[in-house]
Amino acid sequence: MDAYLHSIESFGTVDGPGVRFVVFLQGCPLRCQYCHNPDTWKIETGKRVSAQEILDQYEKQKMYYRNGGITVTGGEPLLQIDFLLELFQKAKKKNIHTCIDTSGITYRDEDTVYCQKLDLLLSETDLILLDIKHVDDAQHKVITGQGNQQILKFLNYLNQKEKLVWIRHVVVPDLTQDEQALYQMGLFLAPFDCIKALDILPYHSMGKIKYQQMGLVYPLENTSDVSIEEAIEAKKIILQGIKDGRKAQSLLSTP
Ligand code: SF4
Repeated sequence: MDAYLHSIESFGTVDGPGVRFVVFLQGCPLRCQYCHNPDTWKIETGKRVSAQEILDQYEKQKMYYRNGGITVTGGEPLLQIDFLLELFQKAKKKNIHTCIDTSGITYRDEDTVYCQKLDLLLSETDLILLDIKHVDDAQHKVITGQGNQQILKFLNYLNQKEKLVWIRHVVVPDLTQDEQALYQMGLFLAPFDCIKALDILPYHSMGKIKYQQMGLVYPLENTSDVSIEEAIEAKKIILQGIKDGRKAQSLLSTP
């Protein structure tokens, strides 16, 4: 099975543990206002590539990935779940650490065929990086064009499957950089034992040039970049929410 590929980064250091071979797949149903990869949105514009070709490329440089592995991101990689399954089945046979960076938007709990494939894929996946854009459904629509119900259900599903999850969240002025919203996000995340890390990413406007090249209007024209210090501050607020949420939970479960 061939995938629609956007690109490959052979020395990724921010998409999972260690040095990683990062595969960017084409296609995404969301339209995040701060997306810096609008060129990944249309699936059919990707280059066709097979799982074996990806692995052959990985093998040529495998000495770099001793403490890392493969991460598949996008775009939204779960749009191409059949390809992903084939790639990870082959990768696990070679004992390669596998990671998916996803928004979770394709999750459909009522679709049993999809869920069966997802179960199989998860059995071949070591880590999920789950991008939570916002826990408020209305604000999620403002940011991405779609609601967050499936994404939040997907997190619940990952928790039930006891899958290792790292949460990612982008701090954007006027959209997510809001003390109350960050704290609420922490409270929401508190009950999920599957979450083992929280990666808070500061918004930057580096993607703007791509919008210009593609003749698209950049939605955040007047938005300033977020500093590392501001991202650290946002992370502290979310962590406080998680801590308070877990404390409240333990009080509730105490007889
Ligand atoms: S989910 Fe990722 S690729 Fe898709 S629009 Fe949002 S930021 Fe861009």
